[in-house]
Amino acid sequence: MQLARYPRLRFAHLPTPLEPLERLSRNLGGPRVYVKRDDCTGLGFGGNKTRKLEFLMADALAHGADTVITAGGIQSNHVRQTAAAAARLGVDCELVLTRIVPWNGGDYEETGNVQLDRLLGAKLHFHPGDADRDAAMEEIAGWVHARGGRPYVIPVGGSNPVGALGYVACALELENQANDLGIEVDYVVHASSSGGTQAGLVAGFRAINSPTRVIGIDVDADTEAVATDVGRLAQAMADQLDLPGDIADDVVVKGGYAGETYGAPTAGMVDAVTRLARTEALVLDPVYSGKAMAGLIDLAENGAFESSDTVVFLHTGGTPSLFAYRTAFGEPE
Ligand SMILES: *Cc1c(COP(=O)(O)O)cnc(C)c1O
Repeated sequence: MQLARYPRLRFAHLPTPLEPLERLSRNLGGPRVYVKRDDCTGLGFGGNKTRKLEFLMADALAHGADTVITAGGIQSNHVRQTAAAAARLGVDCELVLTRIVPWNGGDYEETGNVQLDRLLGAKLHFHPGDADRDAAMEEIAGWVHARGGRPYVIPVGGSNPVGALGYVACALELENQANDLGIEVDYVVHASSSGGTQAGLVAGFRAINSPTRVIGIDVDADTEAVATDVGRLAQAMADQLDLPGDIADDVVVKGGYAGETYGAPTAGMVDAVTRLARTEALVLDPVYSGKAMAGLIDLAENGAFESSDTVVFLHTGGTPSLFAYRTAFGEPE
């Protein structure tokens, strides 16, 4: 596998740190937990989409694009990182934001990622929760064409075979860091939603024949759909990279931690975010990494890991939305 054959821009701060969570590990009584700080990728407050965007934006420029278009929920981190990458490269950015989360109020609609989207100079298009995002993006692409521009549409979450290359590269990066630290990583645990992060990781680990297993924690409250999306994209990556074996065997998505819907706060999330802040000064987010950490803690407490295992929690970012969810943490309205 040669990643160098794919066009890539360099704007992420890499490698992201891999650090032990010593107090959490002691509290849990095993396994040994490390954090991989992909919340620190650097671009416009960082997060996991930045790795995908290194490949996606390279592809956009290779196609002569002068405008990128993408979509997400109101507090989408993917949308904010796309706005940041566009600002960095001097291309226009049009964002479709849909009200898919049953959580609102002034903080939710205007602070956190939305505030950053505006600051970064993107153009925002708000839609109801049931809007067809693909149709809304195509409509904007039509306007851009009509005014003589060159649009490039990035799918929700940046999860296609181009974007997922960012997480193939992350698997290789993690393997090198683990070798340098002298640790064998048994598991990587992270929040899984549109599938590109997990599909890229499983493809990357398979490409180097690593025994590291990936556990995606469903944050969409639809575990089957997430597993299907991850499986489909992992297969596309396996085909594209000509990987051996049946990659479907590597796709593990655990449910039960998302609560009622995507983006809805849960008691487990509030506990996990609070616990990590107070034991490690590690700030998680309410939509993704907080629920994924709730999953990791529950799995650890219920014997899913050996006490001698090493588990890497991939912190995928999302921290700007913490401010939009202020009241979920008991703050006054
Ligand atoms: C998008 C996102 C994820 C999920 O990644 P996918 O590749 O969409 O599965 C996890 N955490 C955060 C903070 C995100 O923004």
